Amino acid sequence: MFSSVDRPAIISRLQSETFDLLVIGGGITGAGIALDAASRGLKAALIEKHDFAFGTSSRSTKLIHGGLRYLKQLEFALVKEVGSERAIVHRLAPHLVVPEKMLLPLYEQKGMGYWLTSIGLKIYDWLAGVKPEDQRKMLTRVQTINHEPLLKPNDIKGGALYAEYRTDDARLTIEIAKKAVQYGAILINYVGATDFLYENEQIVGVRAESSLEAKIMEIKAITVVNATGPWVDDLRELNHSRKEKFLHLTKGVHLVVPYHRLPVRQAIYFDTPDGRMIFAIPRGRITYIGTTDTDYTGDKSNVLTTGDDARYLVAAVNETFPSANLTLADIESSWAGLRPLIHEEGKSTSELSRKDEIFESDSGLISIAGGKLTGYRKMAERVVDRIIELKFEDRSLAPCTTETIFLAGTKRLASNEVDAYGREVARSISRLALKGAEGSYLVHLYGRQTDTIIDYALKHPHEDPEIGLALAELAFALENEMIARASDFLVRRTCHLYFNLHRMIKIKDPVLQAMAMQLGWDQKRLAEEAARVDNHIHEVTGFNKDQHG
Ligand code: FAD
Repeated sequence: MFSSVDRPAIISRLQSETFDLLVIGGGITGAGIALDAASRGLKAALIEKHDFAFGTSSRSTKLIHGGLRYLKQLEFALVKEVGSERAIVHRLAPHLVVPEKMLLPLYEQKGMGYWLTSIGLKIYDWLAGVKPEDQRKMLTRVQTINHEPLLKPNDIKGGALYAEYRTDDARLTIEIAKKAVQYGAILINYVGATDFLYENEQIVGVRAESSLEAKIMEIKAITVVNATGPWVDDLRELNHSRKEKFLHLTKGVHLVVPYHRLPVRQAIYFDTPDGRMIFAIPRGRITYIGTTDTDYTGDKSNVLTTGDDARYLVAAVNETFPSANLTLADIESSWAGLRPLIHEEGKSTSELSRKDEIFESDSGLISIAGGKLTGYRKMAERVVDRIIELKFEDRSLAPCTTETIFLAGTKRLASNEVDAYGREVARSISRLALKGAEGSYLVHLYGRQTDTIIDYALKHPHEDPEIGLALAELAFALENEMIARASDFLVRRTCHLYFNLHRMIKIKDPVLQAMAMQLGWDQKRLAEEAARVDNHIHEVTGFNKDQHG
């Protein structure tokens, strides 16, 4: 049951049953907890106020990484945990978590220096258990400049290549959510918790509201987990338990430019003039750059890139790659997200730890805050272990097995099969007059689920192959990925808003029409959905005209 047409049945079950665990928040943390709990045999439900991955989980740097910066902060345990998690998440979804070598240019006067970096990366590889062939490689000055001719050569001292993985955060989240459903959990989007239900001062569920059906409901649960990322403190306040530690939100912005405007040969992690570090990551037809790190106190549901954010990143790129000569006019798209960090007195935003922490309130609310995309599985394991310890020790539940639960459909795609499958897909889509790049896009987004999409496209030929493909992806998402609004599909299931805005503009009307037909929208709803999509396009590009300040 994971299609929007199942919504009435899901809402009815939410209202009539009592769950062992109710998770509030459908980002990667909440989805991970739902999967862990359901796969151990707990009866789990999850509600998400917006769409799955609407929050930070669609707005990250999209790296499954060991976190080199944590080594700088001497957080060895964190480096070790997320470092080994990278390899696990890659194994669980090798099409979606793809190895990417990162180049670290080293300068005379900036950063950690050549020898310290060499030792640091050695420790990083050791902590993360990196395979010998993927371990860091130190480069001379000439080798570094040859690796990336766009770099300003002046004061380069050398460089280092080290292993990371890139992903699509929103897709990873939705695949975890789908797997949780496969294990029997009930998940729904556009249902937000508005209050808690108590008996004898202990939480026994939540009051919730569905924004699509305008329905208020009560959901009963033995345990309730608050996994709302940047919104964690809002729910702790509602529960009168926001005490001692609290969240410190910082905003991170990414910019997207056409690849030919910043044609870096591989991902690069480089120093900024103000002593921070940012990434430039090539991805098909674009390169994206990020991120900023500034305190944020505005509207958490409407985080925007400002002209200042964009100018900061453009200046940093031009400092390192002067021949690029980027301007705001080169920016095709952007995104901005909030880091839900835990406040520490006297520390600057960049110094704050990215560690996760569990808070337990007197009335039984379990909140999980902080953390990383990369560490979602371990965070979920810790939360579910604690819930079992608190409430379900008398049950014979299975141990955590998420390390072995592969993601994306029911047919496994192993790491050594990805390339061969890619070639198979390229052959199939040539019958649809689609180019090879579309095959790579499909395989990296959907894994073996691509077969279902191609089958649909072959059965429903369209005079424009790109629109035909989009409608086939839409049919798949409508049936399997609970899309309720057009932006769920265009922004989070496909990532077109960020990585292929031209495609999004081309397909948006056919997509809107098809959704209206499938979901029975009237003219008013169709117009509202169209306006929302146009607003998204305006938001991610609007600072070009500087109206965001
Ligand atoms: P979210 O994804 O924000 O999910 C919380 C959800 O709760 C939201 O969808 C929200 O709508 C929902 N919600 C809120 N209130 C309610 C309510 N009342 N009822 C129901 N639902 C509610 N990590 C990495 O590992 N790699 C990276 O490359 C990386 N880059 C990053 C770059 C940036 C700029 C930022 C900001 C973070 C980055 N991170 C990265 C960290 C990572 O993205 C986050 O740790 C992670 O996505 C947080 O997920 P979450 O599920 O806890 O929160």
